[in-house]
Formats: sequence, C-alpha cells, structure tokens
Amino acid sequence: MSRIAFIGLGNMGGGMAANLVRVGHQVAAFDLSAAALDRAAAAGCIPAASAAAAAAGVDAIITMLPAGEHVRSVYAEAVFPAATPDTLLLDCSTIDVESARAVNAHAAAAGFAMVDAPVSGGIAAADAGTLTFMVGGAADAFARAEPVLQAMGKTIVHAGGAGAGQAAKICNNMLLGASMVATAEAFVLAGKLGLDPQTFFDISSKASGQCWSMTSYCPVPGPVPTAPSNRDYAGGFAAALMLKDLKLAMAAASAAGAPVPMGAQAETLYQAFAGLGGAGLDFSAIIKLLDGSWRAPA
Ligand code: NAD
Repeated sequence: MSRIAFIGLGNMGGGMAANLVRVGHQVAAFDLSAAALDRAAAAGCIPAASAAAAAAGVDAIITMLPAGEHVRSVYAEAVFPAATPDTLLLDCSTIDVESARAVNAHAAAAGFAMVDAPVSGGIAAADAGTLTFMVGGAADAFARAEPVLQAMGKTIVHAGGAGAGQAAKICNNMLLGASMVATAEAFVLAGKLGLDPQTFFDISSKASGQCWSMTSYCPVPGPVPTAPSNRDYAGGFAAALMLKDLKLAMAAASAAGAPVPMGAQAETLYQAFAGLGGAGLDFSAIIKLLDGSWRAPA
C-alpha cells in the first residue's frame, strides 16, 4: 500500500481515484468541487482541505485537471511547496506539450521525479480501470510510475522523455478527429450515391478504408450496436473534448513547424459544430453537420 494524493476528481479522476482505493492504496483527495470531493469520499478516499494538504506526506501525487493552466498553477502553488522530494509526481491531464515540459523541468530542478501520463479510454475505462496511459519522462520515473498506473489502466506505454506522453496523445487524437470526419463524409457520399449504410459498412470495414472511427464508433446508427450513434450520440467522447485536443495539436504543430492540413480542417469543422450547439454530443455526431441534418438545440 502507498499513500497517494489525487487532485482533480472529475469525470475521469473520480473513477481513477476509486480504483487506487480498490487495490489498497490510501488516497488523500482534493477537488475545488465539493460534490466531486463527496463522491471521492464515498468511494473510500480521504478528503483533504486543500491541494497542498493532500500533497503533504505522500509517496505519489496524481493530478487529473482540465488544462495546462490548471496544471501549472496547482504544481506551482500546492504540489512543489508541499511535497517532499522523494514524492513521485504524475500528471494524467491532457495538456499542451509546452506546459508539460515546463512543469516537468520545474520538478526536475526541485529534485522530483515526474511523468506526464495522459490517458486514452474515456469515463467508462476510467471507472473500469482499463485506461491506456501514454507516459513521458525519464526511465527511472517511468519505472516508479508503472505500478501506480497499473491500478488504473491495462496498457501503459513509455513514449519517451518529458512531454512525450502528451505528444503521443494529441497526435493520436488529431488522427482520430480527421479519420472521424473522413468516415462521416464517406457515409454521407455513399448515401447520396444510393448505397445502403450497412452495405457500405460491410464493404469498407473489410476494405482499405477500415479504421477505428468506422468499426468502433461508426457515425451512422446500425452497423456497430455499441457506437454512440445508436443512442442519439449521447455519452462517448464529447465533441468539445475532441475540439480541445485538436486545438492542442494545432498549437503544437505551429510551434514545431509541422504541416497538418487535415488536422486543421478537422479543427475548423469541430469548432463550427461546437458553435452550433453540438459540443456535448459524441464526436461522431459531426456527421449531422456534414449531411445537413443538424438542428441546434432550442
Ligand atoms: P472534469 O472537468 O470532469 O474534471 C476536472 C476536475 O478538476 C473538476 O472536478 C474540477 O473541479 C477540478 N479542478 C479544476 N481546477 C482545480 C484545482 N485548481 N484544484 C483542484 N481541482 C481542480 O474533466 P475530466 O473529463 O475528468 O477530464 C480531466 C482531464 O482528462 C482533461 O485534461 C481531459 O482532457 C482528459 N481526458 C478526458 C477524457 C474524457 O472522456 N472525459 C478522456 C481522456 C482524457
């Protein structure tokens, strides 16, 4: 058993902290939201009065926060002042590569081992303890982080040095956003050319157009019964989160001088969809923008 601080107990962090408790860790929890903190307490975490109070006297600190600015401020104001230098630091939030590298550099200068460990898998995988972790950081920090992450995930990959986890995450999600748009527009064109969606799926899912957006999150209802398209695009991976990740990818591409025309187009489309009220739906609902059937909520 280890003593672990968990800061950020939202949709993802709540389930992750509960899984740490389940395998026997003692978890000190903090969130700005009293409701999130109450849920964590019900799952067996010990509520702390502040992020700094949670971070004091533990073996590892895990953060699961919305964006780079939250991570920068929580580490600067609470984690670095309160933690002891042998504490392992793990940031599992999805944030910009620059913030991840800046916080990691600050950690290294202060004598802490730190990894960026963003996740793939969503809320259901966070609850089930089946997340995929993409980990950036030094080899010895990864070796210490792996057993902690194993309580919350089933696949843990060392992607490289500081920031490499975030780099892998945003490149993967840029590919996913572009492939969903391409899959959706293929179904729209297939329909206009008189093809039945199931027939097109049966062919393309076995042909060279096959991809995860088609076979796991098919944007038309029917061919993949578990896909969000079968429940009016509720749940799944929100278009707002896809837009967030595409924006992170565009910022990273701009800083690195990498050409990303498909990712840029996907960002434009998800920005338009979010602006028209689609932010809360699964990202496969982008097909409604493309086929002209989207009606903004009243
Ligand atoms: P969320 O908004 O549900 O949770 C974030 C939590 O952080 C909230 O409870 C909020 O109160 C808390 N918080 C914010 N600032 C804080 C501070 N200064 N101190 C303490 N708590 C603070 O978000 P989420 O869906 O759990 O996502 C968390 C991260 O995981 C994000 O970076 C997101 O991009 C990433 N992610 C989410 C999903 C998903 O499906 N939801 C999937 C993969 C990755």
